[in-house]
Amino acid sequence: MNHVYQEGRDFAKAYIAPYTDLTDRESRFPQESFRELGEQGFLKLLIPEEYGGLGKGLEEHAQACLAFAETCSTTALCYMMHNVAVMCLVTHGSGDLKKKIFTDIIENGKFLALAYSEFGSGTHFYITEMTAEVDGEYTTFNGKKSMVTSASYASYYLVLAPSIEEGKINNWVFPLESKGLSFELSEWQGLGMRGNSSCPMHIDHVTLDSSHRIGAEGSGQEQVFNVVAPFFITGLGAIYSGTALHMYEIAAGHAANRKYPDGSTLSNIETIQVHIGNIYKQASAAKAITMEAARAGANGEADALAKILSARIFASEAAIECGRLAMRVGGGKAYNKALPLERLLRDAYAGQIMAPSADVLSVWLGKALTGQMIP
Ligand SMILES: Cc1cc2nc3c(=O)[nH]c(=O)nc-3n(C[C@H](O)[C@H](O)[C@H](O)COP(=O)(O)OP(=O)(O)OC[C@H]3O[C@@H](n4cnc5c(N)ncnc54)[C@H](O)[C@@H]3O)c2cc1C
Repeated sequence: MNHVYQEGRDFAKAYIAPYTDLTDRESRFPQESFRELGEQGFLKLLIPEEYGGLGKGLEEHAQACLAFAETCSTTALCYMMHNVAVMCLVTHGSGDLKKKIFTDIIENGKFLALAYSEFGSGTHFYITEMTAEVDGEYTTFNGKKSMVTSASYASYYLVLAPSIEEGKINNWVFPLESKGLSFELSEWQGLGMRGNSSCPMHIDHVTLDSSHRIGAEGSGQEQVFNVVAPFFITGLGAIYSGTALHMYEIAAGHAANRKYPDGSTLSNIETIQVHIGNIYKQASAAKAITMEAARAGANGEADALAKILSARIFASEAAIECGRLAMRVGGGKAYNKALPLERLLRDAYAGQIMAPSADVLSVWLGKALTGQMIP
């Protein structure tokens, strides 16, 4: 896979688009699309070549998320979480854990999810209230995660839990079939991203041996800030850029095709032209800043963090603004769901509140630029 963005767009048209409407209308997880994501190699995008993967990095991750979101934000979001979890294993997993899980992804089309947020700590997802009691080789976990995208569909869940080292956390892999793991599927009633299955996960005396811990004891924070943050935050930038571009495509197409009795179209009206221009401007800028952030991040450049934070904040706000303008262009037809714009606007609203939220990241960006400590 050498042209991930273009191949991702082609894939999305063939294997994501047919399910996008149902995904939203019936709050249905895009299982068929995920089966094909496995078949056609996208689930192994970030798995190193030595394990049979494609060995790609942050830039290709962003390209795939962008390409998928130009067709379906929900599918792109679930896919993005999988890639982030894979990266934790790539960078910190033991050889045995990588072999087991990467083989399952490549040969059986399995995928991963992130079970980090809790009801108490909310957007500050790296603060965990769950308990982890160690007894020799085994650890028994109790607690509840609040919103787990791909819940019950993913085969492995990355879970942040307290370490035995005071004030530190660990990143664990919970297999779906772990005894004591359950999901409250009916609790996912999202405004948008409706196919996500982002519901609570109950952890009731789940016992795992230490081979399920990713990395050294107490290395959870390091993984959150060095791996999860860049891949997750850049991934969100790509998803909301793709959502905004999708809005542009639909609004511009509608303006060109909507005819008045005198034969003129919406596109002939100057105000509509200005709206379309503003949507295009913001969507293109979101894409450009996100791809530049991914490039800077992949090359370890000094200002990569500031670029990544800026891209994610800008793209999630741009998607909401593009949706507002696109709904105006779409008129009553868009309002009455003849166009998918209202769905895209609902999807876009997830952007500003997903952890770390746009507000929290705005504070982090200011701190990064003024040389202050980020928590
Ligand atoms: C579609 C969707 C999918 C999700 N999927 C997952 C998933 O797969 N895994 C997962 O772990 N979590 C997931 N989440 C959860 C998400 O990442 C957040 O943890 C969750 O939305 C926080 O909700 P809350 O009501 O507890 O927010 P709160 O923490 O109560 O925050 C409420 C508001 O206050 C603001 N705020 C809070 N503290 C500060 C601060 N210090 N400075 C500035 N502003 C602040 C926040 O930005 C937010 O706007 C998902 C959320 C959504 C919407």
